[in-house]
Formats: sequence, C-alpha cells, structure tokens
Amino acid sequence: MGLCAPINFGIMRYALLFAVFALLAGSPSAAQGPNPALPYRVPVLEYHLIGEKNTRWGRSVEGFRSDLQLLYDRGYRPITVAQLIDRRFDIPAGTSPVVFTFDDASPSQFQYIEKNGTLEIDPRSAVGIWLAFSRAHPDWGTRATFCLLSGAEAGRSFFGDKGIEGQKGEWRMRKVRFLADQGFELCNHTLWHAALNKYPDDKVQEQVARGVLAIDSAVAGYRVRTFALPLGLWPRNRALAQAGAWTDPKGGRVTRYRFDAVLEVTGAFGGTPFGPGFNPLSIPRFQVIGDNLKGLLDTVEKARFVPSRATSARGGTR
Ligand SMILES: [Zn+2]
Repeated sequence: MGLCAPINFGIMRYALLFAVFALLAGSPSAAQGPNPALPYRVPVLEYHLIGEKNTRWGRSVEGFRSDLQLLYDRGYRPITVAQLIDRRFDIPAGTSPVVFTFDDASPSQFQYIEKNGTLEIDPRSAVGIWLAFSRAHPDWGTRATFCLLSGAEAGRSFFGDKGIEGQKGEWRMRKVRFLADQGFELCNHTLWHAALNKYPDDKVQEQVARGVLAIDSAVAGYRVRTFALPLGLWPRNRALAQAGAWTDPKGGRVTRYRFDAVLEVTGAFGGTPFGPGFNPLSIPRFQVIGDNLKGLLDTVEKARFVPSRATSARGGTR
C-alpha cells in the first residue's frame, strides 16, 4: 500500500503529459501536416506572355493581377521549383505552396522603361506586377521560376534585345541578375527553343549547355537546377534532358549540366502530385489560360498540401 500513492501519482503525471501531447497534436498547426492517405497536390502554374488581352499563350495584365490575388486570398504562397523538389517551404504556417513558372523570357515578363537615364521596371510586365503585389502583401515574397532562352528569335533572349518592344540588349544581363538577387529561380529553357526531338544528341546537348552557359555569364557560378523542355518535347535520348555535356568547338571548353528537375508543358491533372508518384524529372504543369485558374484551385482544394511546421520552418531560398 505504501508504494501505491507514489505509483498512482506517477501514472497520473504521465496521463497528464499524454493529455498535453494529445492536445498539442490536435492543435491546428499539427493537424495541417500531410495525411498520407491523400494525394497531395502543389499547383505548378505556367505562364508565357503577359499582355493586353488573354490569348492561347498570353495572360492579360489584369488577369495576371487577379491570379495573384485569387491565390493569395485562398491561402497560397509561392515557392520555386527548386524549393518544391527539396520540399523546402519558407511560407507562413497554414498556407499552401504554389509554383509559378514563366517560360521563354519575353519582354512582357520583364520590361524596363528608360526615364531620364534611369531604368524602371514596367509596372505592366509580369515582374512589375509581381513586385507591386508583394509590396502590398509582404508575405507573398519573391519566389518564382523563370525558364530562360538566351538566344531566341523575336528578341526573346533574356527578356528582349535588338530594341524589340523597346528593350536594349545591354539590359539583358542586368535583368537576369536582378531576378537571382531577388530570390527568383533561374531555369534553363535551351538556347533558342529547339524542338529537341528533332536533333541528334550533340545538338541537343549544345542547345541545353549553351542555355546554362548564358545564365552563368549573367550570374557567375549560378547552379541551374531546373530545365523546361521546349514545347514539352523530349530528346530521342531522353536522359540528355537531365544531364549531358557539350564541347565548344572554339577553344574546346567543356560545359556539363545536370538538372534536378525537368518541367513538362502540360499534365493530366495540371497539378504536381506530391507523394510516392512524384517524379521531379517529369513535373507536369498547368497553363493558365483565361480564367481557368479558379477551376484548378477548386479541384486541388481537397488535396491541397499544407506543410507542417517542421517542413515549413527550414527556410532558405535557393
Ligand atoms: Zn517555351
């Protein structure tokens, strides 16, 4: 009998501790962790041109603004592709990740206006709209993935050159550096958007490697982790989309590349599976056309991914 009281007290103490843990586990932040029974989705959105009106490959300025607002209001916050594959979410607790990708490096994504010798970012370009939105909503941040062309026709070379749409060639490197400095991700989309299924292995590797080289010439030492397939077309030797090497015939310099993520152009669901079936080397994307984003979010809603405190607290940007 003499031992009963302390033993009972011990049991009660453990019961109390258990109750506290159960309460904590039932708190909103812990309850938001992934449920393995659900096929969690992280929407990976794809944009091309930003312009006056909605088209097959273009989103209107007003439409793009409303996309940001819609996502913000529904509790999404942007991360990069690199953050997605690392499962590294530096977004506020209780919010869900969304990935924005911009393909082709057109001036409408990042345009300068020259005023009295100084350069201002066009407030109607994607970057201008984005920065204004994140000033008004500081927890929106500056995380998106820009899949760049460095030598494409029609001035789509690092957001415009040759005076196309008023963009000077000498502004190109500055734009790419600015994006990296802000924490946006630089992604490769080849040199000039070659349909990689049509070319022999050496040409495929040249297209990809020269895209990487160009990014390196803008931001020395930048590790390009993400590659977007032009037109969603795989090279015949599929492995070359992820890794390869090219020897510059002028001087013999060898450029090697190895990506951690490969982006498709479309996807059956339009969101990224976040679970056992997730393949970072074939990430489907959802093209935002007209006002189709709302429908996607309605579909994602039940399976949207809300990181637990443990996965969202790691932070980091690149
Ligand atoms: Zn493209």
